[in-house]
Amino acid sequence: MVRISPTSAAGQFLLSQGVPESVLTAATFRALNQQMGAALTVVWPTRNATVLIKSKYIETDESGEIPVTYKLALIRHELYHVEQGQQWGFIGYWARHLWARIRHLSVMAKSSSVEAPAYELQATARDALDALERSDVA
Ligand SMILES: [Zn+2]
Repeated sequence: MVRISPTSAAGQFLLSQGVPESVLTAATFRALNQQMGAALTVVWPTRNATVLIKSKYIETDESGEIPVTYKLALIRHELYHVEQGQQWGFIGYWARHLWARIRHLSVMAKSSSVEAPAYELQATARDALDALERSDVA
């Protein structure tokens, strides 16, 4: 299980992308490669959440921290779902996500109202990470 500290470089990046600190600290990440898609956020009745995520997206560096790489864009997406869980509660979160998938006849439901904002935030984070990478090279 991995947590991202708000004071780490990855945590600071995610806060700069609008992730509330209470959302960041409510999330734990568990490497799992069996789920469909790269990640799945499981919201619990406590309103904490476990992000099941393919192991390549939560590789830690030698200091045990998540480095600031393009992989944080996916984590930004999932943290939006953690935030939804806090706003809607356990039943509201699962009901809305299940309904989106039924209505869109799609497991990913990318264009649904529960997923579209998450993909937008992911794209914004991706652009910011690309810009950081370019400034590192320069
Ligand atoms: Zn999503």
